[in-house]
Amino acid sequence: MERRSFLKNAGVGLAAGTVAMPAIAQSAPTIKWRLASSFPKSLDTIYGGAEVMAARVAEATGGKFQIQVFAGGEIVPGPAVFDAVKDNTVEMAHTASYYFFGKDPTYAFDCTIPFGMNNRQTDAWMRYGNGGKLLGAFYGKSNIVPIPCGNTGTQMGGWFRKEIKTVADIHGLKIRIGGFAGEVLTKLGAVPQQIPGGDIYPSLEKGTIDAAEWVGPYDDQKLGFNKVAKYYYYPGWWEGGPQLSVYVNSAKYAELPKEYKAILHMACADAHVDMMAKYDAKNPIALKQLVGSGTQLRQFPKAVMDASYKAAMEVYAETSAKNAEFKKIYDDYKKFMADEVLWFRIAEGSYSNYLATLK
Ligand code: CA
Repeated sequence: MERRSFLKNAGVGLAAGTVAMPAIAQSAPTIKWRLASSFPKSLDTIYGGAEVMAARVAEATGGKFQIQVFAGGEIVPGPAVFDAVKDNTVEMAHTASYYFFGKDPTYAFDCTIPFGMNNRQTDAWMRYGNGGKLLGAFYGKSNIVPIPCGNTGTQMGGWFRKEIKTVADIHGLKIRIGGFAGEVLTKLGAVPQQIPGGDIYPSLEKGTIDAAEWVGPYDDQKLGFNKVAKYYYYPGWWEGGPQLSVYVNSAKYAELPKEYKAILHMACADAHVDMMAKYDAKNPIALKQLVGSGTQLRQFPKAVMDASYKAAMEVYAETSAKNAEFKKIYDDYKKFMADEVLWFRIAEGSYSNYLATLK
């Protein structure tokens, strides 16, 4: 393009923008929504994802679309946010969908399943596979529009008072873990315990439980688990890339002007990336501090991983046999994942593995 015509066109664009913007702002309604988080403020990275999203929405609408974030329990108990959004008690929630495993294990796909996809693979399935479409339809039955808003990346396997050297060491193990992972470990003889975050430390300290999983170095360090359990295992095969989600009541979502819908999706997408970046920046520092203070890092033995994988596949076969909706989404998920693993082992995997060998 010639310089003159470029400047002329740029000038036209600028003039149109200057005129149009106040017109949109004037017609934009003032909306105030409440968001119930499932998380405590102490989990600043996960809880903070909703605050990042809400701040972006407010900035982009000149303060006209305000989303007030409430921590778990402030207006809705953490596990009750699903029904609160479904029934429009609150317009929005920020949560991890596997909390609703008890209602229907199919909900877990919006977060993760044991031996499921990592963060990037999940994004690929949600955006360019059938994930977003399938989950949108499934959650739609409960008047919920789910929007991805954060991921922790692969979590740690957690804190163990004793070493796990063989599959037999899992037998009788009282471990704080829930959902699908609990079912998988039950097959190996473990005794899963459902314990809220705040009660894990005293339970580990007293030896009421033998092990506990939480998130990763940054969050685990804050709860001080290293003081009451020596061995820190990896990887958390039940959480290879758990996604956090914003849930929006579907009637409320439908009422939003289309510009606000676009802004909401962009704000969630930005908070999604921001959460992963924050964890990736903070986890290595915390891990070094934990190891420096005496924590013993251990990788789950291959035999333990293999037995757990086999048990997970049995659980999926059993669940698929009795739950058609689960089967439909799982079949799609599994097929997509097979291609992702095939691709990731080539460039990404070999590159990461090589870098890891360097001193
Ligand atoms: Ca976890």
